This record gives sequence, structure tokens and C-alpha cells, in this order.
Amino acid sequence: MAEAQGQLKAIRGAVVARRAELIALTQAMVRIPTLNPPGRLYAEFCDMLRARLEGAGWQVQVLRATGAPGDSDAHPRWNLVARLEGAAPGETVHFNSHHDVVPVGAGWTRDPFGAELDQGRIWGRGTCDMKGGLATSIIAAEAFAAAVPAFAGAIEVSSVADEESGGFAGTAWLAQRGWFDPARVQHVIIPEPLHKDSICLGHRGVWWAEVETHGRIAHGSMPFLGDSAIAHMGALLHEIDTVLQPALAARRTAMPVIPEGARASTLNINAIHGGEPEQAQGYTGLPTPCVADRCRIVLDRRFLAEERLEDVKAEIRDLVGRVASRRGFSFELRELFEVHPSMTTPDAPVVRALADGIAAVFGRPAALVASPGTYDQKHVDRIGGLKNVIAYGPGVLDLAHQPDEWIAVDDMCEAACVMGLALATLLGRQSAEAAACTA
Ligand SMILES: [Zn+2]
Repeated sequence: MAEAQGQLKAIRGAVVARRAELIALTQAMVRIPTLNPPGRLYAEFCDMLRARLEGAGWQVQVLRATGAPGDSDAHPRWNLVARLEGAAPGETVHFNSHHDVVPVGAGWTRDPFGAELDQGRIWGRGTCDMKGGLATSIIAAEAFAAAVPAFAGAIEVSSVADEESGGFAGTAWLAQRGWFDPARVQHVIIPEPLHKDSICLGHRGVWWAEVETHGRIAHGSMPFLGDSAIAHMGALLHEIDTVLQPALAARRTAMPVIPEGARASTLNINAIHGGEPEQAQGYTGLPTPCVADRCRIVLDRRFLAEERLEDVKAEIRDLVGRVASRRGFSFELRELFEVHPSMTTPDAPVVRALADGIAAVFGRPAALVASPGTYDQKHVDRIGGLKNVIAYGPGVLDLAHQPDEWIAVDDMCEAACVMGLALATLLGRQSAEAAACTA
């Protein structure tokens, strides 16, 4: 206990000494608008970070995901991986962050890329999700290495492209190339904004599909001569609302998903379009008067660890088929995107190490949660084959993707202490034993 207290004191001291550096690093990141879409300034961001990390003794590689989805010469997908070696062989702890940020949107009262420091917070797009988390993990690693210079093993930090658009040119691309092979990396922490006192064990699954109903075009003044694809879609949406939605809401998961409302299966209609275009060839106006021969929706189905993806797909195919045969229309169903759920067990080593850190820093047990949306954990788990992976970071989940996004400097410092203590648990023990041997 006394040893643990001493360790917390040393790591906290090293973090506090780096507070100004943590602020400056976060600001430097936020001031590079790495917007996705389209994937701007990834090279500039990686160059800035490479210079910063090499100056502090990290070995840095900057890698382009050439040919991966989204990569082009206009918007190349660059990723950075940095490594800090310990004093002896041991395990590797890897912090995986993304440097892309979502579009700014309306409603800001601050400069989205000004990274203004005010009220103890840094303001701007990407502060919370998740450049603040990336900066925190770097400062945590450097504070730990200063407090425990004889540590065993290695610390890695990755800063990757395109998490916000699926991660195919970022974490998935690295995973396909063995970067998360359990033989070289044993623990992965993803500093996504899931609250400084919570550990996120995983996320629900996703299935996106597009459904198009078919009708027959006719003059809008004589609708009885046509067959409206919009009317068919209306019937389909009614069936979804009255039959499918109640069934999904009743399906509950044992995953500790936050917020509580996401602890069930959900379905959202992300988009709908039917009839003639309202915007064509630069013309913005009214659609021509026709009975709609096409109507299309995009379904966003979030499913639980307890459900099978095949069943999720079959349930929707059956529903669409049922309505189509009842009303006599044809349809197309196109699959767009799928993600399997990921869920790490609460007794995994990386979870226990972070939980001990949270208890030491905050004096209360860590909350174990799961995310309503997906993030890069799926790629580390499903492609990399590494199960010892979770999300832990200082941001407040509700602020992600919002106007006037911010990160609190105190939250970053506290989360850096938690990360530093977890590093001490995972990498410090062997060095303590080695020290005992040489004593
Ligand atoms: Zn994120």
C-alpha cells in the first residue's frame, strides 16, 4: 500500500511537471484541422508529432496506407507509430488514438481550430474526440518513464487516420500488417472519450443496409395510373415501427452500454429519398410531377453481443419480403457496412491495471462500461487477434462531435496519472524484480 502511494506520488509529480507541455501539445494538434471527410493534413499532423516525439527519444515511423479505402494522392492516409524502449525486455503497452476529426458543423461560439485555453479547458474540434486523449497518453508515457526509468518492456503510441470513417486506412490497415499481433503487443489502450473514471470494455455491432422499393412512374396528376414506391416505403416504415422496433427494444444486453437507452438493440433510418430529384445539374427547385418509381432508405442497425449478425440480417430481409409480397412490389436490399461487437472480459490484465489506477487516483472503483457506437477496438480484436484491448480516455463522451467541444486540463492530468499507474503495474514489476536481484 505504502509502495503504491509512493508510486502515485512520483507519477503525479511527473505529470504535474508536464502540465504546460500537455496543454501546448494538445493545442498544437487541434490547430491542424485534420478534417475527415475528406482526410485533410494528415501528413502535416504526423510530421509535427514525429518531430515532437523524436525530440523526446521515441523511435517514430510514419506510414502511408497506400491503396487502402480513402487513400489518394490528394488526400493520402498517413499513420504514425512511435515506440519508447524500456531498460529491459518485457511486454509492450500500446496507446492507439486517431488524428482525424469530424466536420465542424454549425453552432460554435469559439474558433473550432483556435485551441483557446479558457476556464481550465481547451476548446476546439477534436479536443475531446480525441486529440486530448492522444496528448494525454504521450505525457503519461513520458511521465512514467521519468518516474520509473528502469521499466521493462516498451510503450507504443499510434496516431492513425480515418477512425471516424471506419478505420480501414488506419487501425485496420496497421492490424492487417501485424502491428497488433499479440506476439509483439500485449496490451492496447484506446484513449477515446469515455470518461476519466470509466473503462470501456467494448462496443455493440453495426449493420448498415440500403433498401429500395420499386414502383411505376406516371404523371403526378393521375397517380392512379402509376404505382408509388413512396407509398410502399411508407408501409415498410410502418411495419418497422409497429413490429420490429418493439421487438428490438425488448432485447436487452448484459453489456454495460452507456447511456442506458443503448442497452437494447436499436435501429435508425439514417436517410430517405424517393421520387424525382429536387436538385439536378445545378438547378435547385421543385421535383417534376411524377409518381415515384424509386424510394430508398439507409438502415443503421446496432446489435448486441448476444445477437448473431446472420439473424440480424435475416430479420430485416424477412420483414421487407413480407411487406413486399403483401403489397406486390419488388425491392432491392444492398448491404453497405458491418462491424461485429467487441467485448473484453473485466478480468483482462489491461482492465485490472487501469481499474487499480482509477481507484488510486479517484478513491472509488472504476465504472466498467461499453460504448453505444463503434470505435477502432474491433480492428485490434477481430483483425489483430488481440483480446486485451479497451478504451480509456479523459474526454466527456457527450461532447464528441458537438459544437464548442472541449477537454478539461485537470481531466487530462488525472487520466495521465491513471495511465501512468497502469504502466507501472504492467511494465514496472519485472524491473522491480530485476532491481531486487541486483541489490
Ligand atoms: Zn474518436
